[in-house]
Amino acid sequence: MNNFTYTTAGSITAALQHTKRHPQAMYIAGGTNLLDLWKYNLLHPQTLVDLNGVPGYHTIEAKEGGGLQLGALVTNAATAYHPLIEQRYPLLSKAILAGASAQIRNMATNGGNLLQRTRCYYYYDGDVPCNKREPGTGCSAIKGYNRIHAILGASEHCIAVFPSDMCVALAALEAVVQITGQQGKRSIPFADFHRLPGNAPEKDNALQAGDIITSIDLPAKEFAHHYSYLKLRDRHSYAFALVSVATALELEGNEIKEARIALGGVAHKPWRIPEAEQLLQGKPATAESFAQAADKLLEGAQGYPHNQFKIELAKKAIIRNGLMALHPETQLPGAQPSA
Ligand SMILES: Cc1cc2nc3c(=O)[nH]c(=O)nc-3n(C[C@H](O)[C@H](O)[C@H](O)COP(=O)(O)OP(=O)(O)OC[C@H]3O[C@@H](n4cnc5c(N)ncnc54)[C@H](O)[C@@H]3O)c2cc1C
Repeated sequence: MNNFTYTTAGSITAALQHTKRHPQAMYIAGGTNLLDLWKYNLLHPQTLVDLNGVPGYHTIEAKEGGGLQLGALVTNAATAYHPLIEQRYPLLSKAILAGASAQIRNMATNGGNLLQRTRCYYYYDGDVPCNKREPGTGCSAIKGYNRIHAILGASEHCIAVFPSDMCVALAALEAVVQITGQQGKRSIPFADFHRLPGNAPEKDNALQAGDIITSIDLPAKEFAHHYSYLKLRDRHSYAFALVSVATALELEGNEIKEARIALGGVAHKPWRIPEAEQLLQGKPATAESFAQAADKLLEGAQGYPHNQFKIELAKKAIIRNGLMALHPETQLPGAQPSA
């Protein structure tokens, strides 16, 4: 029996006071990841602080000077189907709809999506070593069954990947995460929010104890005309990405003026290499150009016995998604072409 107290916070200040008094307290939003981890006996919260009653973070608002502010407590479904997202940031809508199921997206929140934990099988299996679950015990995936694991940015301590779809689009769109913590407010650019495992794989991101994500800001640049999100996975729905790609392009004729490419399913964080995007500037939007960018993005990629295929799969996905981004109107809403 795991006794715990549950409290609803009516404001950010009240939520922060709870976590100050109870440093082991955990926030809950949609609960779709937290409750799973609890049932797997991986979390044992003694105090749950429910954020859903905190007013002010349940809306999507246009920002002065362009851009949007996505409240942390807006659900993934409400975000994906919001007219401002569908019209102005369709890449984000597509990526969210490629994830989970309708039921889960109805519960899952934007803040929680950024903080979901890896789907590495060994992390979920409390009977085997895992540095992410129990630092210093070792990584069972490195010599184990590593089909879903990282090919980029891994370390000798952890080869888990970050599983979000939404975050791959947010990385490509250069979102900014707004946080309120015990020391006040701060902003973290998306590229710096999630971290590589290094020698501290238990830490997924730059949050400090008690920090609350209040919103995610999208910059004025929308990439509403040429974009695509491609998710390749073992099952066509309700499965996490083996490799995913978010591509956003600004074109003049067939020439690329600006490009953003982020990969999911390949690293401990959404993977972006700005040099790969710069390579595309001024180039024709062709398979050859996207192939050059793919080589740059995959530079240094290292596979393990069961996931070597991901390197070639990622290269092909980048090329294919670049070409798909030229004609987003040909993609059915929410549809994912099969691999
Ligand atoms: C069966 C299944 C399939 C899925 N498939 C996919 C998929 O294909 N693609 C995909 O991207 N995702 C997928 N997901 C993951 C899902 O998107 C996440 O579980 C969800 O986004 C988490 O949001 P939540 O609000 O439920 O978070 P919660 O479970 O409530 O919280 C998750 C974590 O975030 C913390 N937290 C929540 N909100 C805040 C906040 N505002 N500030 C600070 N801390 C906070 C909590 O303390 C907890 O540690 C799947 C989930 C399930 C269960």
